[in-house]
Amino acid sequence: MNLFQQAPPALGNQYYEDRVLRSYLARVLPADVLSDIQESLAEMGRLAGGELYELQLADRLNEPTLTQWGAWGNRIDKIEVTPLWRRAERIAAEHGVVATAYEQTHGSLSRVHQCALAYLFTPSTDIYSCPLAMTDGAARTLLNSGNQALIDRAVPHLITRDSKEFWTAGQWMTELTGGSDVGLAETIAKQEPGSNTFRLYGRKWFTSAIASQMALTLARPEGNPPGGRGLALFYLETRDEHGHPRNIQINRLKDKLGTRKVPTAELTLDGTPAQLVKGPTDGVRNIAPLLNITRLWNGISAVALMRRGLALSFDYASKRVAFGAPLSEKPLHRDTLATLQAEFEAAFHFAFYVAELTGKSETGEISDEDALLLRVLTPIMKLTTGKQAVMVASEVLESFGGAGYIEDTGLPVLLRDSQVLPIWEGTTNVLALDTLRALQSDGDTQQGLKRFERAVLGCLEGVSDARLVSVVRSALDHSLTWLAKGEAIEAGARRFSLTLGRTIELALLIKHEQWSSSNRFASVGVDHIF
Ligand SMILES: Cc1cc2nc3c(=O)[nH]c(=O)nc-3n(C[C@H](O)[C@H](O)[C@H](O)COP(=O)(O)OP(=O)(O)OC[C@H]3O[C@@H](n4cnc5c(N)ncnc54)[C@H](O)[C@@H]3O)c2cc1C
Repeated sequence: MNLFQQAPPALGNQYYEDRVLRSYLARVLPADVLSDIQESLAEMGRLAGGELYELQLADRLNEPTLTQWGAWGNRIDKIEVTPLWRRAERIAAEHGVVATAYEQTHGSLSRVHQCALAYLFTPSTDIYSCPLAMTDGAARTLLNSGNQALIDRAVPHLITRDSKEFWTAGQWMTELTGGSDVGLAETIAKQEPGSNTFRLYGRKWFTSAIASQMALTLARPEGNPPGGRGLALFYLETRDEHGHPRNIQINRLKDKLGTRKVPTAELTLDGTPAQLVKGPTDGVRNIAPLLNITRLWNGISAVALMRRGLALSFDYASKRVAFGAPLSEKPLHRDTLATLQAEFEAAFHFAFYVAELTGKSETGEISDEDALLLRVLTPIMKLTTGKQAVMVASEVLESFGGAGYIEDTGLPVLLRDSQVLPIWEGTTNVLALDTLRALQSDGDTQQGLKRFERAVLGCLEGVSDARLVSVVRSALDHSLTWLAKGEAIEAGARRFSLTLGRTIELALLIKHEQWSSSNRFASVGVDHIF
């Protein structure tokens, strides 16, 4: 009889075990802020490595269901989400995974705190981050809109910690005509005579988290011109007080490669009542605050999934023996994991840097220069980290050998779920083109680019490692000269944006490493004179 039994990978408290997160927080947060938020992070780390992770493994085969018809022939379009998602909703509300950013207990740094909570929460909750991202984005969009009636009506629900009062929000932009070129949208908005209410008619082709209580969506008021400017941004509530859909038919749930716990639906809007959020035109521009937030969440999710794969892989490497020693003692296996860890750490510092700037912009502490930098970095960060997440997830699966390909290990889902990150909230190409637009947002390419350059060079100040500094400088110089040449800019936009992304990632890594080494040295003690 074969007695060998392989020990599976295991997780401990995901906050205490995360050197990268803890070291980063020690650098950017004042000591009193860190000590104030530590308990909330440790608690989320405990849930993520314990109860939620166990529930996630047990929940593996469950999926959301759509019941279109009631027993007596009435259309009900009822969505049931999985047990893990129900638990996740409660924990998210009660632990303030959205609310923390709006309570602003620590000013702009509350956004960093909230992103750290989201980062810990995300990998154990099967993309419950999707409705949370849209909820956060909807709250920000409504607050920015100045529409006091809608702010009073919806925002308290979106940012509450009371799970009974908590609402999530959907974001319905993509139609059959296109998710990138949303200006082609065909949904029509007809105003009810003598009222501010519109009725929406059309088909929405991808609507995630369809169990949400409200949504922000785009539609063209009758008589408006074609294109993005002719669309308006609308607010709607999905169900009436009896729980019936408000003239919304859920035609089917998408049969997706990953994110299978997320109920993503195809809808027909057939007279759905809706309110204008901010004027009868410019819907694409008016929904931008939502996209900035969901792109930030996308980056945080990318690093969260990378971290989860690596946490499992490093643990497994200490348990799996091959050729006479644990994999963790094999130089080539260690080198393979170290390369992935480097991708993760670079992505981590980029995503959280964007969180820092986002926090400043939300509290009004941001300078014009940094506002421009945030505009430039958001698409670059989203596209760079999305690509890294897929690559790292694929390698993580390989690091487990055959087990990485077997469903009941809970590993393959990491790759499937990561694969959505470069697609939704703007594909890599679409964001690469957006990067070019961002660099020109003030009509002068040099402004955005110069601000980017200053941000990168600022990270290198006082850095002694000449080799690393020269790698950053040469990538930066190459990007600047390539852009200045002005040839085939559009065709090269993806390579250009990824180069900018990896350049600032290296610069941020160097900056953190410099701080980390000096800080470690200082903490051991410098002054030895008695
Ligand atoms: C799981 C999932 C959930 C989703 N949930 C939602 C949701 O809740 N709400 C919502 O509104 N949408 C949602 N989407 C839709 C998603 O945002 C779109 O699929 C995405 O924006 C791309 O749009 P598309 O599918 O129409 O592809 P297309 O726009 O047709 O793009 C096809 C390809 O062409 C490329 N491309 C497009 N334009 C250009 C260009 N000018 N130059 C170069 N290349 C270009 C793209 O990069 C892409 O590779 C979801 C998608 C998925 C997969």
